[in-house]
Amino acid sequence: MSEHQTFFSNLKCRECGSLYPKEAIHICEFDFGPLEAAYDYDLIAKHINRKVIESRPQTMWRYRELLPIDGNPTVGEQVGYTPLVRADRLAKHLGVDELYIKNDTVNYPTLSFKDRVVSVALSRAKELGFKVVACASTGNLANSVAANAAAAGLTSYVLIPANLEKSKIVGSLVYGTQVIGIEGAYDQVNRLCSEIAGKYGWGFVNVNLRPYYAEGSKSMGFEIAEQLGWKLPKHTVIPMASGSLLTKIHKAYKEFIRVGILDEQSFSVHGAQASGCSPISEAHKKHSDIVKPVPNPNTIVKSLAIGTPADGYYAIRSMTETGGSAEDCSDEEVIRGIRDLAEYAGIFSETAGGVTVACARKLIDTGKIPRNESIVLCITGHGLKTQEAIHGHVGEPRIINPSLREFEALIANDAAVLESGHKS
Ligand SMILES: *Cc1c(COP(=O)(O)O)cnc(C)c1O
Ligand SMILES: [Zn+2]
Repeated sequence: MSEHQTFFSNLKCRECGSLYPKEAIHICEFDFGPLEAAYDYDLIAKHINRKVIESRPQTMWRYRELLPIDGNPTVGEQVGYTPLVRADRLAKHLGVDELYIKNDTVNYPTLSFKDRVVSVALSRAKELGFKVVACASTGNLANSVAANAAAAGLTSYVLIPANLEKSKIVGSLVYGTQVIGIEGAYDQVNRLCSEIAGKYGWGFVNVNLRPYYAEGSKSMGFEIAEQLGWKLPKHTVIPMASGSLLTKIHKAYKEFIRVGILDEQSFSVHGAQASGCSPISEAHKKHSDIVKPVPNPNTIVKSLAIGTPADGYYAIRSMTETGGSAEDCSDEEVIRGIRDLAEYAGIFSETAGGVTVACARKLIDTGKIPRNESIVLCITGHGLKTQEAIHGHVGEPRIINPSLREFEALIANDAAVLESGHKS
C-alpha cells in the first residue's frame, strides 16, 4: 500500500444510504439518520491480509485501511493492542469453559477504550483543519480528549456532568484543558454541545465528528479476532452507554469476514447496562426497538449513564441480528462484579467493568450464553478512576505497630482462621 492511499470513500446515511462528502457532518439532511463511514471493501480485500497486518506495529493502526482518515494518524499513534487475557480462574468461578478478558483498562494513554475513538476523531479533526476540539462526556472521553489534544497541541474544551467521580475530573484538569461542569445529566450536556458545535464551529468528537469517532471502536473488535488466533469468540459481552461500542464491534467482525480476513462464522454480541440507567437493555428485553429515555439516571456507573442513547436502536438491531441478549444489573451486583474480576483475574476495572462481569454472569446463569462456548468480556476502563464506588466494600488495611511480635500475633490468628476454615 502506498503511504497515503485511503480506502475510506464517503459518509453514508444508515437509513437511506445517501452518500455525503467526508466532512464534519453527522446527520442525514433527508431523514435525520446518522452518517457512518463507508469503505471500498473490494479494494481493501486486495490490499490487506493476516500476514500484512501481523507485520505492522502492535497498535490499533495496524487496521488502518478500515479506519476513516485520509493520511497517516497524527494523534494517538500508539493507542490500542491491549491484552486479551485468558481468565481460567474467573471462568471456573462463573462456571464456563473458555473465557477471555479484553483488557482496555490499560489502554494508552488514559486507561479506557475511549483512547481508541479519540485517536481517530482527533487525527481526522486535524485533517479537516480544526484548531479547537471538544466533547460531551461521562468522564473517560473527557480524559482522553484532554490528554491527546494536549499532546497534539490542540485547544480543548470538555463538558461533563458536574457530579462525576473526582479522579475523572482531575484526570481532565491535569492536562490544562478547559473543563466545564454542567449542573445536569449527560443528555443536557450533550444537547448544549450540539448548540455550541453549530455556533462556534469547533470539532466535537462525539457530535459533528461522531462518524469518525465511532469507527475507532471497531479496533477493539479487530484486535479480539486477531488475538484469538484469527477467529471470533462465540459470545462478546459489551457495556453500553450510547450503544456505539457494541454496534462497532459487530461491524468490525462483519468487516473482517467481508474482506476475507476471517471465514464466515456465527457469533453473538450481548449488551450490558446498569439497572439505574438501562434504556437499551429494557427495550431489548421487551422485544421492542423503541428506546424509552431515562430522564434521571441513578447508578454508581456514571460512565454508562446516558438516558437517551444515540445508538440504542442500532445496538438493539446488532443484538437481534446476531442472536445476542441484553442484561442489566444493580449497583450491588456491579461491586460484586468488580471484586470478582479483581480477585479471580487480577484486573481492577471501573464500574463499567463490574457491569460487564455481572451481566455476563446473568446471561450464563439463564442459559443465554451456553457454558461450553467461548466468551470475551470487554473491560473498558480502569478502577483507579472510580475508587469511590468500591470504598467501604473491600475492607481496610489492618494496622499494627512496626513490631515483629504484633505481626506474628496477626499471622497466628490468620493461621487459626485458615485452619478452622479447612476443617469445616
Ligand atoms: C464510553 C464508555 C463505554 C461505552 O460507550 P458507548 O457510548 O456505548 O460506545 C463503555 N465503557 C466505558 C468505561 C466508557 O467510558
Ligand atoms: Zn438518510
